[in-house]
Amino acid sequence: MLPSKVVRPMRSIAAMNPVRAATVSPGTGADNAQPLIVARALSKTYGAADRHQVTALKNLDFEIYDGEFVSVVGQSGCGKSTLLKVLAGLLPYSAGSVELNGKPLRGPSPEAAVVFQSPVLLPWRTVIENVLLPIEFRKLPIANYRQKAADLLALVGLQDFARRYPFELSGGMQQRAAIVRALVQDPRLLLMDEPFGALDAMTREQMNLELMRIWSGSRKTVFFITHSIAEAIFLSDRVFAMTTRPGTIADVISIDLPRPRDLSIINTDRFGRYAAHLHSLLDAQGGMF
Ligand code: ADP
Ligand code: MG
Repeated sequence: MLPSKVVRPMRSIAAMNPVRAATVSPGTGADNAQPLIVARALSKTYGAADRHQVTALKNLDFEIYDGEFVSVVGQSGCGKSTLLKVLAGLLPYSAGSVELNGKPLRGPSPEAAVVFQSPVLLPWRTVIENVLLPIEFRKLPIANYRQKAADLLALVGLQDFARRYPFELSGGMQQRAAIVRALVQDPRLLLMDEPFGALDAMTREQMNLELMRIWSGSRKTVFFITHSIAEAIFLSDRVFAMTTRPGTIADVISIDLPRPRDLSIINTDRFGRYAAHLHSLLDAQGGMF
């Protein structure tokens, strides 16, 4: 059974900003909305000219709106992680442009935080010390963030584990700590690369509900990479389906399912139709793996 706290009501993107939400619908014109991310003809090629070059991303055009939850699905090796690292400012792109909040993206931004598949906690530091690491890195006054860190740990059910070490936590708990570490800086944009890929099915479902709860209460924009079509539909406002390498966006599916969502929505016809559509898109690319 899932804890009852994880299914409390959430705001949909429409409830957060009805004017903007209208522009987030399929075929959005975005007439009066300011997207958080704008990518135009974005390309990324690895390797020096003429030598073993790999074009990972080719000519991507998309917008991601403030407060939106966008997932990306696509075959392994199609460029999902490359795209996330480019948006995180961790990897330079080769051509085109990316804007974050109206400004050209040049390197990591304090407005964005990344969560990877592995929690990457420092084993010699306690959970709270790990969570406060980005604050230390940014030389911000740690004392001002302790309460926030404690509140976030409580939000994900880790209030009793703040002074424990990572090895004392399960995989799911470690990943929750990694998410708290990303959230403690109050980033506007949360970039997540298959964050629940290493977790068992039950923990993963719980983490999905937890993430929806955090997202709905915080107005953050989430860019979420996953191997699971069901996870993508369940969480998202829109799902980007990528082609095989060189990766580009094959289709953008708007998920018009009511919020709050609980796991029973997976059994509805509408959910099934979205899943079938995404499966057929990816099958046309040779499947998910
Ligand atoms: P995904 O996350 O969708 O599995 P990646 O973005 O990791 O895909 O990789 C996309 C393509 O770029 C793959 O063909 C991969 O081999 C290649 N690639 C990824 N990182 C590098 C790198 N640092 N140098 C060269 N090629 C890379
Ligand atoms: Mg990847």
